Amino acid sequence: MNINFRNMFPAVFAAMLSATALPAAATLNVFTCEPEWAALALELGGDKVKVTSATTALQDVHHVEARPSLIARARNADLLVCTGAELEIGWLPLLLSQSGNRQIQPGQPGYLEAAASVNKMEVPQLLDRSQGDVHPAGNPHIHLDPQNIAKVGEAITARLMQLDAANAETYKSRATAFQKKWRESMQKWEAQVAPLKGVAVVVYHKDLSYLLRWLGMRDIASLEPKPGVPPTTGHLSEMLAKLQREPAKMILRSAYSDPKAATWLSERAKLPTVTLPYTVGGNEQAKDLFWLFDDSIQRLLAALK
Ligand SMILES: [Zn+2]
Repeated sequence: MNINFRNMFPAVFAAMLSATALPAAATLNVFTCEPEWAALALELGGDKVKVTSATTALQDVHHVEARPSLIARARNADLLVCTGAELEIGWLPLLLSQSGNRQIQPGQPGYLEAAASVNKMEVPQLLDRSQGDVHPAGNPHIHLDPQNIAKVGEAITARLMQLDAANAETYKSRATAFQKKWRESMQKWEAQVAPLKGVAVVVYHKDLSYLLRWLGMRDIASLEPKPGVPPTTGHLSEMLAKLQREPAKMILRSAYSDPKAATWLSERAKLPTVTLPYTVGGNEQAKDLFWLFDDSIQRLLAALK
């Protein structure tokens, strides 16, 4: 074996030096509240980021416990990406204060609220939390409009470039590639969904409003009397009567929600229930943002047949 140590040593030494000079250059730690932002941060950050999501697609993100293990994960985050618009009001403030991480507090470059980048739907005219409405700041389930994904993507890219200037060029080129692929996918989806336009549906929670608006579908009733208020027998009976006057094609629910009310109404109104993944990881197919929309659209189209 003939190894030239004389040439090898400067290279090893240089590598050691650069490792010392840039300890954080390896990866940016991104902590997200929801799986959709984790998936988006990964698309945009690639191998420059290490991403962790506080919740999975099968959890109701309105109700999460700020467990010690979750707080520990927020402690060394460089960037926090959460929806905002009060979606995580029940647990994020505690998580942030307990984390002791100054970088990710509101107002810092390491704190990013996705909902601030988009126009929110269903902003109440009158603020009334007394009845348990969990959407007092408007509908926070913004990620199911693919145009919002593009907008939040731009905001994440800007933060990645700001927090990790050494890799700014990489983030810029990854963003260009992602946004191009996303626009092309949107064109493909929009060509597929024409049969869904105008179709009336019943939802469980108001968590699909952005998807339905984008698809031109009509959400005529919610199984919850108010966002976050569980269905009651009285309310479900009213739904049943309403569906006789104004028929719907299907009942939609998200994978994380309780299926009981949808099943009850489905049997009585003779309507199919379609379970949508809601976010990345909500079913086996929805393994990234592209598949999330592909799968949701395919399920809606299949229910029309
Ligand atoms: Zn909600």
